[in-house]
Amino acid sequence: MSFEPAGRVREVPPSGIRRFFEIAEERDDVISLGVGEPDFATPWAAREAAIDSLERGRTSYTANRGMADLRAAISGYVADRFDLSYDASEEILVTAGASEAVDLAFRAFVDPGDRVAVAQPSYISYEPGITFAGGDVLPVATREADEFRLTREALAEAGAEEAEALVYCYPNNPTGAVMSREQLEPIADFAREHDLLVFADEIYAELTYDGEHASIATLPGMRERTVVFNGFSKAHAMTGLRLGYALAPAEAIGTMNRIHQYTMLSAPTTAQYAAIEAIESCAGDVREMVEQYDRRRRFVLARFEEIGMPCFEARGAFYVFPQVPEGWDADTFAEELLTEHGVAVVPGSVFGSGGDGHLRVSYATGMEELREALARIERFVDGR
Ligand code: PMP
Repeated sequence: MSFEPAGRVREVPPSGIRRFFEIAEERDDVISLGVGEPDFATPWAAREAAIDSLERGRTSYTANRGMADLRAAISGYVADRFDLSYDASEEILVTAGASEAVDLAFRAFVDPGDRVAVAQPSYISYEPGITFAGGDVLPVATREADEFRLTREALAEAGAEEAEALVYCYPNNPTGAVMSREQLEPIADFAREHDLLVFADEIYAELTYDGEHASIATLPGMRERTVVFNGFSKAHAMTGLRLGYALAPAEAIGTMNRIHQYTMLSAPTTAQYAAIEAIESCAGDVREMVEQYDRRRRFVLARFEEIGMPCFEARGAFYVFPQVPEGWDADTFAEELLTEHGVAVVPGSVFGSGGDGHLRVSYATGMEELREALARIERFVDGR
């Protein structure tokens, strides 16, 4: 016997993001534009609901699928905000963060050897999740010329017609790209034609700055082949409360719940109370945070233009994805920027194909810090 990692675990490298955080944590003069986490506190009403539930001693497990009141609230919320229609009793699973929902979907529907197309650059958890489930990752590189949107051409070029499923997130982490209903249509056509399941990570749906978020599950013939992931971490600034959910047809939710009921039992109870309140009374707080993110987004985009680092207009999430200046490689740029000027950003290569030569810069940071960080980046670039 030994604690030699199992083969599937050996296959997965340690997170490329962590390395930068570790350097950043050792110093106290570092401004971090590296993390994917709101700088706002959870809206007070949601925190108060959590406190109240604790005071009343409501600390037991809930139903496996989540509290009925919360599922009802989620059902109403997604209908109202995103035109999605999911039945509270059968088509919603409340999970420990969207992370658990993503992991469950891979484990529930990916067989060993199945190929899962991953639109990249992308959030870093999809590849390991697919590998842990025994599936094979099929990277689909999106291009800056398409503003990092997924296109039919990109899917065809990667051979995605051979895949069993497709996973993507829009609004996108790390690029900030969004996709409109019209732009999703060819993706939906492709999925129907080649019989792919679609795992649509919509955790940044509320953080859409130009127009409305569109979900692929609202397109004809797509609801029955799509699992939508969402949660409270981003828009409601609740990362540490660990609460998310999956939306899918009853059969799919039942299958995911078969794993969830044994591995998680139920999502955190205190967080479920906070989430009900977040939906019922925090829409105004969300709007205010979104307005502030939008202001910062415009500022950061304008500054990168002044600095001479080309940056397409990211319209969602809280990231921009500028190119490093000519002659630089992004890993070296990020490393020297951190060690010499104390600004942490993440090199785009960490996020898979198509990310080379770029940096992920998060603007979930106060305006003063953003101003100072961009001044440092400017000095760094001008000094070369
Ligand atoms: N999906 C994406 C695209 C994310 O950026 C994140 C968080 N960084 C997650 C899922 C996980 O969110 P949660 O906190 O709900 O697990």
